[in-house]
Amino acid sequence: MRLSEIDPKTMESKIHKGLFLCGEILDAFGPIGGYNFFWAWATGRAAGLGASRTQ
Ligand SMILES: Cc1cc2nc3c(=O)[nH]c(=O)nc-3n(C[C@H](O)[C@H](O)[C@H](O)COP(=O)(O)OP(=O)(O)OC[C@H]3O[C@@H](n4cnc5c(N)ncnc54)[C@H](O)[C@@H]3O)c2cc1C
Repeated sequence: MRLSEIDPKTMESKIHKGLFLCGEILDAFGPIGGYNFFWAWATGRAAGLGASRTQ
């Protein structure tokens, strides 16, 4: 999934509202160059918080 298709504050898809993404499914691994665990945890936290705010 392209990063441009995601709201970086909530990790919600701009294409499919109500769908929150995190970790390796996002196309960040070239740019970040190896901090994969950090990416998975940080985006997972953001996506969880983002999803909980939509309830
Ligand atoms: C051998 C190896 C070594 C690594 N070493 C490092 C390292 O030292 N440092 C680092 O930062 N990164 C490392 N990585 C990368 C890091 O492990 C991954 O980037 C990170 O775990 C991705 O997290 P994720 O939650 O996005 O995906 P994953 O950890 O792959 O989690 C996805 C989960 O979804 C589950 N799943 C899949 N399909 C379905 C389905 N249909 N229904 C329900 N569940 C499903 C899977 O079983 C899995 O539990 C390593 C990777 C590998 C393979």
